[in-house]
Amino acid sequence: MIQRARIVQAFLELVAIDSPSGEEEAIAGELQRRLHELGLDVAQDAHGNVLARRAGTGAPLLLSAHMDTVEPGRGIRPVWDGDDIIRSDGSTILGADNKAGCAVILEVLQSAIEDGAETRPIEVAISRGEEVGLLGAHNMDYSRITAKTAIVIDSGGPPSSIQGQAPYHYTYSIAVTGKAAHAGVEPEKGIPAISIAAEAVLGMPQGRVDFETTGNVGTIHGGLVRNAVPEQCQVEGEMRSMEFEKVETLVSQAKTHLEDVRQRHPGARIDSQFHLEYPGYKLEPGDPAADLIFAVLRDLGFTPDPHPVGGGTDGNVFRGHGIASVVIGRGGYNQHTKDEYLVIPEMLECARVVEAAVRRVG
Ligand SMILES: [Zn+2]
Repeated sequence: MIQRARIVQAFLELVAIDSPSGEEEAIAGELQRRLHELGLDVAQDAHGNVLARRAGTGAPLLLSAHMDTVEPGRGIRPVWDGDDIIRSDGSTILGADNKAGCAVILEVLQSAIEDGAETRPIEVAISRGEEVGLLGAHNMDYSRITAKTAIVIDSGGPPSSIQGQAPYHYTYSIAVTGKAAHAGVEPEKGIPAISIAAEAVLGMPQGRVDFETTGNVGTIHGGLVRNAVPEQCQVEGEMRSMEFEKVETLVSQAKTHLEDVRQRHPGARIDSQFHLEYPGYKLEPGDPAADLIFAVLRDLGFTPDPHPVGGGTDGNVFRGHGIASVVIGRGGYNQHTKDEYLVIPEMLECARVVEAAVRRVG
């Protein structure tokens, strides 16, 4: 049975271990220790993600969370007076994003062992570097994962709060190489990379393109000194849309625009790269992850509440690797702020939902 005191204890212990993105050694060690203690086969892949497996019956199910936290997230002192809410002391985040997800996975495993319950084979993937670009999921050793369905325990709110739709996300970079020259003596010998980059930028989507599509030019770097025609300028940006066709259209318009800029400036070199960071998705009936979580929620008396989100999670990346994934809430609020707090009953509900999912054999 899911036990409140035990999951809260695990949560408090996990948030006491500093784990800012890129510095996950200690938390990875602790998670491996706990998973090993629970009898799972545990390993870290080459990137440092913690992967584990427990035998069971039927088709394997992947349970996933991430171990890293955002800043300010060092020396977290959780404040809990025994009621239903855990907060930070106001000087840091709490780290419910995503230590609550980790605690849920550990509790579900503990409960299954205690109850001698029959479960599906459970695969566990706890990623690192999620908060800085889904790095763990991008670099995960997928040869160690056989599950085709995943529950990603990494959303705010109660477990019925499901990320029902997430965008397709393209990033791009543009590098303009012109020619340096003295700006006062012989500017006509130069090719000004910054001005050409400016022309390029003006053709890139910026802001809200439509209700489900956005674009942003995020960085620009160029030039060395005031009195030289700048030789180099680099631009980085992104585009997102819930609809793949829309983001693809933006990308092709951007490429056409860059081609025009190239034609106008034959002496300059304009390199550009567009990269699909992760695919979007929309949960539809028939999707194995959606069907599983909707059925379990309804069985337990919850009303599934799928809603669109503007960002990506490990679930997007998993889908790109053929693993149908659903992202559910685990009781956190005001994530990525010093006002972050955890609602314990919702973390418990999340654990019960995940437990019901792994025990739905066959
Ligand atoms: Zn998170």
